[in-house]
Amino acid sequence: MKTLFEKIIDREIPAEILYEDDLCLAFRDIHAQAPTHILLIPKKPIPKLADAQITDQLLLGHLLMTVNKITQELNIADAFRLVINNGAGAGQTVFHLHMHILAGRPFSWPPG
Ligand code: AMP
Repeated sequence: MKTLFEKIIDREIPAEILYEDDLCLAFRDIHAQAPTHILLIPKKPIPKLADAQITDQLLLGHLLMTVNKITQELNIADAFRLVINNGAGAGQTVFHLHMHILAGRPFSWPPG
């Protein structure tokens, strides 16, 4: 069965898509936790980061460089937080690997 994010990739569920290429898709989080809250996902359905294989390393690097591209385009490259929740115990609710890009407010440390 498709996850929610696979349905967004396949345009079966609407999303405000900001960036797309052959390998990944970025769209606004529906429950924004900051003035800017974007989700970046690989098109390949890896359930969580811990499931990634060595053969995924180019893809993972591409995702990080895409974070740079998106944050530069949105003029938030000087201050953003990048979050990956890995596993239900860490707050993951959608089991399709995704990076949260958050910006536009102060962020405390340690994270909650
Ligand atoms: P996580 O808790 O790390 O698995 O993050 C899942 C994220 O997906 C949450 O921040 C949700 O707000 C977000 N989300 C859930 N449904 C949608 C949707 N239809 N469109 C955009 N973001 C969504």
